Amino acid sequence: MDFANLLFFIFLFGIGLFFGSFANVVVLRLHSEQDGILGGRSQCPKCKHLLGFWDLVPLFSWIFLRGKCRYCSDCISWHYPLGEITMGALWVFLFFVSGISLESLLSGADVAKASYFLLLGFFSHILFFSDLFSTEVHRVISIPAIGIALLFLIFPFTPSWKDAFLGALIPTVFFGSQILLSRFIFTSRGDWVGEGDIDFGIIMGLVLGWKGVIIALFLAYFLGSCIGVFVMIQKGRGAQVPFGPFLLISMFLALFWGNTIINWYLGLLGVA
Ligand SMILES: [Zn+2]
Repeated sequence: MDFANLLFFIFLFGIGLFFGSFANVVVLRLHSEQDGILGGRSQCPKCKHLLGFWDLVPLFSWIFLRGKCRYCSDCISWHYPLGEITMGALWVFLFFVSGISLESLLSGADVAKASYFLLLGFFSHILFFSDLFSTEVHRVISIPAIGIALLFLIFPFTPSWKDAFLGALIPTVFFGSQILLSRFIFTSRGDWVGEGDIDFGIIMGLVLGWKGVIIALFLAYFLGSCIGVFVMIQKGRGAQVPFGPFLLISMFLALFWGNTIINWYLGLLGVA
């Protein structure tokens, strides 16, 4: 990577920190339903002191204030820098693996693709953390994410319409039937998948197409059961593990390495 592209990726990471900070606020306000998503100024959750510009610089404020509020010295959750770093890192990752560079952007060739990954990354990030921290999927976020995935189907780097709709149908039927079964037949067992998982499934299907979504579902169950067992050992059997984060991680893995994963798996089975 040349120097100009290195600077470009550092810049992208920096912008990602700011959008990550914004995403944190959205997640927090969706969770607490305070002030709507956009209104109101940021304040310390403990002492309610309004925060100034120097308290709100992503990552750096947290580092320089050593994770404490300037006014009441109460600890500021590590969720804030985590949300900021992960947005920057996700954007850099998406651009890097999809081969978007400064040149391809300036020539205009990758502008649509870059917009797609910025938007998809941003909404996935919010969905990921709101499901992770509050096990809730908010339609205010999932519906626009579905809208974006639909809109970008006009571009050649996304699946064809047919492929995308079939892709969205598979997890809808798959999760929908599980929800119906757990509601009406195995009522004692509770919901293993939630309605929000259908939203995740639709996004995945539109982004990946039918083959990709099947790979992603397998991956999500594989990752989910590995980590789910680990969490239950740590926290006891009743621990709630949201499934959405696994679906989203699997979506990005299948998007870039779907074929590699299939070949590896078939190799394990001795088929290929
Ligand atoms: Zn405070």
